[in-house]
Amino acid sequence: MTDYRSLSFWHDTVEDDLTPRPPLPGDTTADVAIIGAGLTGLWTAYYLLERDPSLHVVLLEKNIAGFGASGRNGGWCSALFPASTASLERRHGREPALAMRRAMISTVDEVGRVVAAESIDCGFTRGGTVSFARSAVQLAAALAEVEEADRYGVDELEMLDPDAVAGANGALGASFDPACARLHPAALVRGLARVVEARGATIHEHTEVLDWQSGSVSTTRGRVRAARVVVATEGYGATLPKTHRRILPLYSLMIATEPLDDSTWDSMGVSHGRTFTDFRHLLVYGQRTADNRVAFGGRGARYHWGSSIQPRFDRSSAVFKHLRRALSELFPQTADAEVTHRWGGPLGVPRDWHASVTFDPASGIASAGGYVGDGLSTTNLAGRTLADLLTGADTDLTRLPWVNHRSPSWEPEPLRFAGSNLGMLAMRAADAEERVTSRPSFAAKIMGPLVGH
Ligand SMILES: Cc1cc2nc3c(=O)[nH]c(=O)nc-3n(C[C@H](O)[C@H](O)[C@H](O)COP(=O)(O)OP(=O)(O)OC[C@H]3O[C@@H](n4cnc5c(N)ncnc54)[C@H](O)[C@@H]3O)c2cc1C
Repeated sequence: MTDYRSLSFWHDTVEDDLTPRPPLPGDTTADVAIIGAGLTGLWTAYYLLERDPSLHVVLLEKNIAGFGASGRNGGWCSALFPASTASLERRHGREPALAMRRAMISTVDEVGRVVAAESIDCGFTRGGTVSFARSAVQLAAALAEVEEADRYGVDELEMLDPDAVAGANGALGASFDPACARLHPAALVRGLARVVEARGATIHEHTEVLDWQSGSVSTTRGRVRAARVVVATEGYGATLPKTHRRILPLYSLMIATEPLDDSTWDSMGVSHGRTFTDFRHLLVYGQRTADNRVAFGGRGARYHWGSSIQPRFDRSSAVFKHLRRALSELFPQTADAEVTHRWGGPLGVPRDWHASVTFDPASGIASAGGYVGDGLSTTNLAGRTLADLLTGADTDLTRLPWVNHRSPSWEPEPLRFAGSNLGMLAMRAADAEERVTSRPSFAAKIMGPLVGH
């Protein structure tokens, strides 16, 4: 029996006993069958039932609701989308790209609205994100980011001067994006599961889906016949034959410290609700938790052959050491704080780093995912959009450019293994190169487009 509490700091501290709900008792029927009870599946159920409370919605979950990335993430409820505005414009045109940006920004407020309306106590506090620039190269990147946002005129980014970010070691300035809230991810996803159940959905946990086709889903516990099927397995899709090459599981790992006192937080200059990062290439991200810890994560864990996902990959002592060093270096005020929790999990990366929502009315099969590390809020937009698509509504959401976007498949092995791990090494090398040369990295320029920069 899995010890779900040990999955992450969030699972350890969520007010929920994490007892699995009963599995599917055998063959059944539903109007909509949803595969996976992470935020994609649950937000879809939530908005479907809001649009049509008479729908019979069944969620099929291999583990427990919130077992995956949705319960373990950094708690940034942001307006970030894995494809940049410029790349959305190149691919879809200016107006669709701007519509996507507006939809993402309003999604942060929509999550806040629902958690308040449904009394989901997840510490949602909208304090914005500060991205520290800690070298001349990073400062140039921050300025370029703010200038680009100004040019498009949708995101309200601004530059912060060095005085405003003096608490972060070596910060020469920062960009600030107000469109981000911090929250407790397991409290959100477990709370949302209870809300959708109260609205009439059935969640079957410990029910592994083996396959699906138009009109039915087969599981280890029986078959569900449903005219509409939603595939919401994100990174875990790589373990299923139908979606194996459509998504690549990338591990992100995190640590949490013991609670810090208010004077330490004051010296760091990080208020409640604020999330933070910097402009290095090998991404790091942090939040001040509601109970005053630092929850701090980053990339750097390697990709595993054949897109394998194993519980032991959630933990890597080398990455945890790297994160501890990176946190102490960014905030020396935290250097003596004990690290109380270490965890990680797989997120889903599509070949072109472009998230999508899809629905084929002929087969009744829908899906959403490919959010990379930006799914906490994007899943909400996906859920609203899928609810519109599945109920046949033609809305602003169903016209957004990520609807029915089809990413190419990932290469077969050994190319996938070589490419992914090379990309990771290149980003690490790019950071080292910039530290030494004080110039924008050549490695990042070459490899960036392949690894989502
Ligand atoms: C460490 C980490 C930090 C992150 N930080 C952030 C952040 O700060 N902000 C942000 O926006 N995003 C972040 N992300 C990404 C974000 O968490 C995800 O994009 C988002 O949660 C995806 O939600 P989902 O429901 O699509 O997928 P998941 O939450 O992964 O849910 C998929 C579900 O499918 C189930 N499943 C898998 N296979 C089967 C099967 N065969 N049958 C039935 N069920 C199955 C799984 O058990 C799981 O519950 C982070 C991710 C990680 C791992």
